[in-house]
Amino acid sequence: MKKLFSLVLVMSLFTAIAKADNGTNAPVKPYPLNHCIVCGMLVKGRTDAFTFVYHGQEIKLCDQSEKQEFDSNPAKYLKKLSNEAGKKQQNSND
Ligand SMILES: [Zn+2]
Repeated sequence: MKKLFSLVLVMSLFTAIAKADNGTNAPVKPYPLNHCIVCGMLVKGRTDAFTFVYHGQEIKLCDQSEKQEFDSNPAKYLKKLSNEAGKKQQNSND
């Protein structure tokens, strides 16, 4: 009985550690825009949008084919993203 109890304890400890790892490893910033950063089409609410994380920033594109375009110049698209996210904030402050 004692043995079983410690087994359960060890297992729940492992689960807790695994959960903590997931929490600290990926502080992902949510994608701030309603549209695709590559082509400008609406992606918000689309279940078929292609979502990935680039350097802790979530990115949403229309589909996977546009990932190549993003990868060809990530800096350009990240700059565009922060510019447009900033604009969006200014607009909503009005
Ligand atoms: Zn697109």
